[in-house]
Amino acid sequence: MPALIIDGSAISKSILAEIKAEVAAIKAEKNEVPGLVTILVGSNSASVSYVTLKVKTALDMGYKEVQENLAADVSEADLLAMVDRYNKDPSIHGILVQLPLPRHIDEKKVIYAIDPDKDVDGFHPVNIGRLLLGGDEAKFPPCTPAGIQELILRSGVRISGAEVVVVGRSNIVGKPIANMLLQKGPGANATVTVVHTGTVDLAGHCRRADILIVAAGVPGLVKPEWIKPGACVIDVGVNRVGEKISEKTGKTVAILRGDVDFDAAKEIAGSITPVPGGVGPMTIAMLMKNTLSSFKMHAS
Ligand code: NAP
Repeated sequence: MPALIIDGSAISKSILAEIKAEVAAIKAEKNEVPGLVTILVGSNSASVSYVTLKVKTALDMGYKEVQENLAADVSEADLLAMVDRYNKDPSIHGILVQLPLPRHIDEKKVIYAIDPDKDVDGFHPVNIGRLLLGGDEAKFPPCTPAGIQELILRSGVRISGAEVVVVGRSNIVGKPIANMLLQKGPGANATVTVVHTGTVDLAGHCRRADILIVAAGVPGLVKPEWIKPGACVIDVGVNRVGEKISEKTGKTVAILRGDVDFDAAKEIAGSITPVPGGVGPMTIAMLMKNTLSSFKMHAS
């Protein structure tokens, strides 16, 4: 039987609708709304399109949204001063600096400068530490891993007791999702294995997985015969493999492929995310969720 296709676009829409309703209720009661600042340095086309979507979504949620577009040659000191200003601004609950930054700016310094209580991307080491401790300590789970966990939960797949295999150990996807799913608590409690380029017998590990999460950035890395029949497959990979003319807009757009051979894998898996339309749309929904959590945290 073909797999259930986990529709990240639909799930993210329903999460955003829940957030929007909650923000409207908060505004009606307290005349306050969450505030998010998005800081973009330069005009890298992928970054511009990510930021544009984040801004549009934040405005749609009813958030106060401040968009800061800085020139590519802005000094590190000026960027740090801006972050500091928003750290102190009580109307701002989330600070997002779009990565990557130009080479002359030390990315780490900028991430470390963000107040951990406004770090809605969840990249600050304090928040990574909180994530590891788990439970109530975890304030802002990084958005893509949080989206992955939500997709698994909302598609009815049981995480507790499952064998989870994560392909990839990056700081933004592999390591955090592995840590989130091994926590003792609801929505987790799995047995987690993380595999990478140093792993012997990648295929053998993948074959054991009840839940297989692939974040390698290698198109078609996971072959259908590596998938356990009935497994839940979350394909995080977004790989540009060519270009095409969009039927809708007539413009040239990228052809995107995941890290899993989707067409063959969907005949074996129990459920699977498509690329695009799987994990991608969840990331922004989780950013909005973290910003609302930050607002509530500051209010209390
Ligand atoms: P990354 O920093 O490049 O990390 C890739 C990881 O995969 C590394 O740990 C690497 O192992 C491992 N890997 C690469 N090739 C492998 C192979 N042949 N066998 C086993 N392991 C392999 O990438 P990332 O930032 O985590 O992103 C991964 C993918 O997810 C990319 O396609 C990216 O575009 C996508 N992504 C999507 C979203 C979204 O949808 N919102 C968000 C973030 C990322 P080593 O550590 O040994 O090098």
